Amino acid sequence: MTTMNCEEFVDLVTAYLDEELDAGTRRRFTGHIGVCGGCDVYLRQIRVTVAEVGRLPARNLTDRSRENLLEAFRDWSAR
Ligand SMILES: [Zn+2]
Repeated sequence: MTTMNCEEFVDLVTAYLDEELDAGTRRRFTGHIGVCGGCDVYLRQIRVTVAEVGRLPARNLTDRSRENLLEAFRDWSAR
């Protein structure tokens, strides 16, 4: 069994939270969380967003929150 890469992970986050993934894809998805700390944090962020908004964010919102996250890291390391 191979795990997926980060791009595939991000693409599938909303489908995962909607429980739309088939069993095999779901296993590869959760397998990626185990090997990639960045995506683990990303998934948590999406969960928090879902809890706050009360529904899954639109795809463009998840892209934006990922950009904001990367932006924040960049700002922080520049200081
Ligand atoms: Zn990843």
